[in-house]
Amino acid sequence: MDSADLLSQSRPIELATPAPHRSRQARVTWGQRVVTIGGNAPVRVQSMTNTDTVDAIGTAIQCKELALAGSEMVRITVNTPEAAAQVPYIREQLDRMGVDVPLIGDFHYNGHRLLSDFPACAEALSKYRINPGNVGKGDKKDRQFGQMIEAALKWDKPVRIGVNWGSLDQELLAGLMDTNSQRAKPWEARQVMYEALITSAIESANLAVNLGMSPNQVILSCKVSGVQDLIAVYRELARRCDYPLHLGLTEAGMGTRGTVFSSTALAILLQEGIGDTIRVSLTPQPGEARTQEVVIASEILQSLGLRVFVPSVTACPGCGRTTSVTFQELAKEIDDYLRAQMPVWRHQYPGVENLKVAVMGCIVNGPGESKHADIGISLPGTGEAPAAPVFIDGEKAMTLRGENIASEFHAIVERYIAQRFGATA
Ligand code: SF4
Repeated sequence: MDSADLLSQSRPIELATPAPHRSRQARVTWGQRVVTIGGNAPVRVQSMTNTDTVDAIGTAIQCKELALAGSEMVRITVNTPEAAAQVPYIREQLDRMGVDVPLIGDFHYNGHRLLSDFPACAEALSKYRINPGNVGKGDKKDRQFGQMIEAALKWDKPVRIGVNWGSLDQELLAGLMDTNSQRAKPWEARQVMYEALITSAIESANLAVNLGMSPNQVILSCKVSGVQDLIAVYRELARRCDYPLHLGLTEAGMGTRGTVFSSTALAILLQEGIGDTIRVSLTPQPGEARTQEVVIASEILQSLGLRVFVPSVTACPGCGRTTSVTFQELAKEIDDYLRAQMPVWRHQYPGVENLKVAVMGCIVNGPGESKHADIGISLPGTGEAPAAPVFIDGEKAMTLRGENIASEFHAIVERYIAQRFGATA
């Protein structure tokens, strides 16, 4: 049987695409800026500052950096009266810098008091994060939770009910453990913990709705630090409710570990249509920019085809056929350059984020991969003639030679972008 016969008898291979989302849609606003979450909105990227909120200038600068890196909402810690007092100034600084990114207040233990004692703080924030495990114990719990919901209603703000297994409602967990011990076949302790996380989130959300919140203004999260735990919990959470879901692996760690663990967990759930906003909780390595968590979150969404933020640079991993580092350096330089330009290019060159560049190490896959990109270069491997063919829109356009291949290719990319995406294009 030849290939034509095979093709005529087989069915087309099913395309792999993320499942559609089926949550309600919430709106987080500041001024004219509206960030929709859930429903048919794109999956949103958020991040959190690690500055002391009392340092209003430092916090505003980091919020700006995170926003410019692509964070569509930025969460700040509001933990003390001094921090709450600075929130309006942080907002003001951002507005002065022309940064309209919505700010989310992260409250624990005393949020009910801070939101009522500091009305300017309550007003300046665009969303309140409430951890039902940290709003108080016993009869104070519902009362203090209710006070936070009252503030959200008064200032017309959405809330995120953010449950975290590190601060899970211990009374609820103990009750579920008791019930479990009476079962003929008790569940595993982990399964009871899952149940407690989900119950805490959904019961708190339902309580908020009973107190007057629109269900469209309640976002849920149930963060855990194990990849399989996160997948199990969010699958069930998505099955039991249609509140928009904020997704993140808490305490993912640093560097490669944090990146891989977060990417693995989030990608699996996002592919199943679960997760309306994401955060990568990366511990910065010494000297590493806080914005790295935004870069990783954006790349996760871009890798799944859910969003497009920056031009993509395809580079081969290199092997024994190319022993010089030229192509590694060129790939990094082009990637860094394209990323750094995006805050300006987003406005100057609409659509530039869809650009595909290939930087390849030798003739084996170089020309083929370069032809699939909008613009690509195949650098000479070991023993190959010192020539680098450049492909533009699938056609070989020129061959670069000599010492200045890198800078010449750089200029070609810039010219291509201006011609294709510039105002006159
Ligand atoms: S393109 Fe060439 S250098 Fe790059 S991985 Fe493939 S064979 Fe190795």
